[in-house]
Amino acid sequence: MERDHTSPSLTLQSAGVRVTPQRLAVFEELRESGEHLSAEALFRRVKERQPSLSLATVYRTLDMLREAGLIVEGRLGDERNFYEANVEPHFHLICLNCHEVRDLSPEGAEALHREAEANSGYRIHWSRLEFFGTCEACQARQPEMARA
Ligand SMILES: [Zn+2]
Ligand SMILES: [Zn+2]
Repeated sequence: MERDHTSPSLTLQSAGVRVTPQRLAVFEELRESGEHLSAEALFRRVKERQPSLSLATVYRTLDMLREAGLIVEGRLGDERNFYEANVEPHFHLICLNCHEVRDLSPEGAEALHREAEANSGYRIHWSRLEFFGTCEACQARQPEMARA
C-alpha cells in the first residue's frame, strides 16, 4: 500500500475537516498503523494519548472522515465493522477464524475498476472485493482449519 506522507493535519484541512487534537489522533492512528480497525479498537488505542476521548467522538470522527473521503468503512459479514485509511482500490483477505483483515493489492484492482466502468457505464467511486479464508497463523495453530 502506498503511504501518504502529507502531514495528517494538512490532509484533514484540505479535505475540509476542522482539525481538533482528537480528530487528528484518530486519523493518525488509522493512517500510520495501516491497519483495519473497529471503532472500539481505535478508541482503546487513541485513548492512551487522548484520555478525555469518548467512543461517541470516535464514531462522529469516523463518520466525518468517511464523508470527507479520507477513510473507508468495511464490514465482515456480521456487525463487525472496520475502518481503514487506504482508500485506493484494493482487495481484502479476511481470516474467518481470527478476523484479521489484510490488504491484497494486485495490480488487477485498478484494471478491474476500469473494466467494470467500461462494461456498465457506472462511475465507480469505491469497491470491495473480499476473500474469506484461514490465515497462515491460524492454519499453523489448527491444521484442520486449512481444509475447512
Ligand atoms: Zn487467522
Ligand atoms: Zn484494506
